[in-house]
Amino acid sequence: MSTPEYLSGNKEAIQQFLDKFDVRHSPQTPTLLTPPLYPLTPAPTKKSSPQVFFRSWVALGRVGLALVSQSAIACFRRISSPNSSLYLPILTHARFPPTQVFLFDCDGVLWSGDHLFPGVPSTLDLLRKKNKQVVFVTNNSTKSRQDYKKKLEGMGIPATAEEVFGSSYSAAVYISRILPQHHPQLKERNKVFVVGEAGIETELDAEGVPHLGGTDPAYRRDVTPEDYKLLAQQDSPALDPDVGVVLFGLDFHFNYLKLCYAYHYVRRGALFLATNTDSTLPSAGALFPGAGSISAPLVKMLGGQEPMAFGKPNQAMMDAIEGKFRFDRSKACMVGDRANTDIRFGLEGKLGGTLGVLTGVATKEEFLEGDARPHYYVDKLSDLLEGLE
Ligand SMILES: [Mg+2]
Repeated sequence: MSTPEYLSGNKEAIQQFLDKFDVRHSPQTPTLLTPPLYPLTPAPTKKSSPQVFFRSWVALGRVGLALVSQSAIACFRRISSPNSSLYLPILTHARFPPTQVFLFDCDGVLWSGDHLFPGVPSTLDLLRKKNKQVVFVTNNSTKSRQDYKKKLEGMGIPATAEEVFGSSYSAAVYISRILPQHHPQLKERNKVFVVGEAGIETELDAEGVPHLGGTDPAYRRDVTPEDYKLLAQQDSPALDPDVGVVLFGLDFHFNYLKLCYAYHYVRRGALFLATNTDSTLPSAGALFPGAGSISAPLVKMLGGQEPMAFGKPNQAMMDAIEGKFRFDRSKACMVGDRANTDIRFGLEGKLGGTLGVLTGVATKEEFLEGDARPHYYVDKLSDLLEGLE
């Protein structure tokens, strides 16, 4: 395993890193296939001139051509978008050049708690201006992409929901688009029993996947003797026969009743999935139970059966990101502060590079001597700016 290269303060090394991902030499403007509108001919001054009459028709023709070309481009974008009902993936591959992507973990890289690290917005802005796709990859399942966009903007980082890739979204996309191909029974029983917060429900709604449980107050109560009797029945009227998936995420209202329901759905054939399996949740300088600690009791009940999970470092998430952004992995870089999730995610995804930052969880020793070592590391993200001066 090679030794990570330390970049901070070494302008030449930073420039070599940036050159590897073609940052310094990329155009300042996007290269999408959007031709500029044809310039309009100035209004004629002599209305009676035959030449002016001819020019007017030429101008009208140009405007018409511009409108037709813009409509064609809009139509093409529609059919080339994976979110579109008219999605034709072959066109995307055939027409768009591979996009270069920088995948960013958020907490510990961009900010810590409510503290934004200095220079982060300028660094991201520069990458965008250099035509790089920026993607915020988070394991936090309690927030939807829209919630995360608001959080990013609240921290002073302009962002779109399209740039956010969370474990809830990753799970929802997988359940709606990929699972039914491998589990035909899900075409009939496609309802999801959710153990988690509103972020999961929002993303399932966006994908048109029916669900129950989640934030429903009916599941936020103590278990009664009647519950035991109902759930124990062969064809329990308490259980929805359309439930084919049980999806766990971080649930701030987790209780015994939800665990009972989750177990009985899985025992009756539902698939056991999790947005992510992080054992801990860092907050306020200490550790608290993460999503993996919510699903752990069911793993125990099922005799060690682990859920299929979608957060970093699981490659189902990388596949989903690649499916959406269509990038060249050899020209992509994962930036993160945790070796065992972020850096491993990039290494196992065979990305062109991984960049560790020392503003979060991992120590320099972990990056230098651990099992998942980044290709490069810096003290802080904004150190990259030095290579662009
Ligand atoms: Mg982090």
